[in-house]
Amino acid sequence: MPQLSRRAFAGALPLGLIGGSLLGPGLLGGSPARAATQVAAKAPVAVNPFAQIRIGRFTVTALTDGYADMPYDYFPGRSAPEVERAATAQFTARPSGVRFLFNQYLIEDGERRILIDAGAAGSIGQTGQLPQALAALGLQPEQIDAVIVTHMHQDHMGGLVLGGKNNYPGADLYIDRRDVAHWTDPAKRNGSPDYLQTSFRMAEEVVRLYPRLQAIDGEREIMRGVSIVDLTGHTPGHIGVRVEDGGKSMIMVSDMIFPVVHPAATDVFFLFEQDRAAAKAMRDRFYPLAASEGALIAATHMPFPGLGRIVADRGEMRWQVADWALQD
Ligand SMILES: [Zn+2]
Repeated sequence: MPQLSRRAFAGALPLGLIGGSLLGPGLLGGSPARAATQVAAKAPVAVNPFAQIRIGRFTVTALTDGYADMPYDYFPGRSAPEVERAATAQFTARPSGVRFLFNQYLIEDGERRILIDAGAAGSIGQTGQLPQALAALGLQPEQIDAVIVTHMHQDHMGGLVLGGKNNYPGADLYIDRRDVAHWTDPAKRNGSPDYLQTSFRMAEEVVRLYPRLQAIDGEREIMRGVSIVDLTGHTPGHIGVRVEDGGKSMIMVSDMIFPVVHPAATDVFFLFEQDRAAAKAMRDRFYPLAASEGALIAATHMPFPGLGRIVADRGEMRWQVADWALQD
């Protein structure tokens, strides 16, 4: 991907835009204002942990579990300096890596509450905020009727278990059968690298603590307007969830797309992907389809609340953030 250097970029801008001087001395240059800014920078910033849209009769709420910065060498297919350069150009570079969000989605129709994914729950980075996000909505985990886990990586199922107990005791749990088989297979576990062992351990715990686990075989409806989409590749049983009603739709695609490296390329991966050919095939198939349909997408690791579209822009695929509010 051709990228302008910082110098070339700055050279193309009017002088007043460089170095923050657009804001003028009254805002940043004066000493009382600067002191106030520095004090404010140290105070914690209030974060609204959820965002809502309507899809027909459904309310869909994005809930944050937090974030983690993924090291630049976690993206096979590109060198660490290449990933860092791309992240810097997109302003998502952090000292220790690419900023990943952890977005979960709650679907409500006034009768049932279905949660898509349960978060990393502190097993990665600065995560574990999902219970507080639910509480901000006035909900306790016991009030969730069903949880769909898009795949059995630790950052999607970690929150299912809290203190060795089932954290969603009122919920049916839906996971693709291929993932349940893979992540509970001792032979697969023994042949896997260290960084996947947490997911194998969690999978065993989840299966033991959730007798209401329903293994999913292929695409099916969970309730009217909420259906499973087969997105095998990132893991064997990686699935998405389509929410559709009243002529509107949204598809939650989980780890189909990662920030910085996708969707412009499909030959770059995330470290946790064990079958890279399958992961590439999944993205080669999905990105053009999503672009041609203009599908509204919700994605786990894209900037909160993770809503956008894949668009083909002069021959290159890119992520176009969608308005979360005021869309109608
Ligand atoms: Zn993930």
